[in-house]
Amino acid sequence: MKEETLDYEDFKSDLSSKYMGRSVYYFDSIDSTNTKAKKLASKGAKEGTVIISEEQTAGRGRLGRSWISPKHKGLWMSIILRPNIEPINAVKITQIVAAAIHKSINCLGIKSLIKWPNDIVLNDKKLCGILTEMNAELNTINYVVIGIGINVNLNEDEIPKDIRAIATSLKIESKDTVDRKALLCSILANFEIFYDEFLKNFNMETALKICRENSAILGKEIQVIKKDSCLCAKAIDITNDGRLLVEYKDGSKEYLISEEVSVRGLMGYI
Ligand code: ADP
Repeated sequence: MKEETLDYEDFKSDLSSKYMGRSVYYFDSIDSTNTKAKKLASKGAKEGTVIISEEQTAGRGRLGRSWISPKHKGLWMSIILRPNIEPINAVKITQIVAAAIHKSINCLGIKSLIKWPNDIVLNDKKLCGILTEMNAELNTINYVVIGIGINVNLNEDEIPKDIRAIATSLKIESKDTVDRKALLCSILANFEIFYDEFLKNFNMETALKICRENSAILGKEIQVIKKDSCLCAKAIDITNDGRLLVEYKDGSKEYLISEEVSVRGLMGYI
């Protein structure tokens, strides 16, 4: 059977967005879609340009971690953005992307949760990771690249043993093959709506509501892992600007910024 592919010609008739995903660079194989996106962005690629690959041979996560991206099994893609906002506000876009992906997965009838700041999880395992990278001057953003890795149709034996306890796919959880094209189009359309809302008046209420109501960690005891420390805390709220408010055992509170920390559950990944 010929594998379904994700070139622009394959999905354009199903796409309802205006500019998100209207310029597409498609690859059968690539090292990392984010690396490619950054190169294209520095050469002037326009907002909404999407880089998709059927596989990544050196997919990246945060803090130098790697992202497994087997061929034809997931959505491995990056989106180039050029928001006219202060660089400090770029991290908020991660929450907007997470909300859009969550909404699209929900439409498949799969009840995932959002693990602040950058993962979508199901049954305590990671379904999707988001990697936001930025190139900016002091006050202006040159570009933002949003990397999205969604485990769509991986079978259990296609997930490496060392991450099988923390990773899953839509197919494993729903016991059904998922239409990658439809999911892709839905995510691009939902994201465009939330992103436009954000740019128009800095309003990310709809996205934040989704992130709060479907949070995997709010109200729970978590571990806050920083470069040199690991502390237990309770996740209290996601603030209007997308930070995580936590309360430590001694009663002190902190607003966490996504770049600085990793969040884990007390017993494991969540
Ligand atoms: P974190 O959860 O610490 O924020 P990242 O978002 O940076 O991690 O993602 C990288 C980590 O995710 C890797 O170290 C690995 O444990 C795990 N991982 C790698 N590939 C996948 C995948 N396809 N699905 C789920 N988890 C993965």
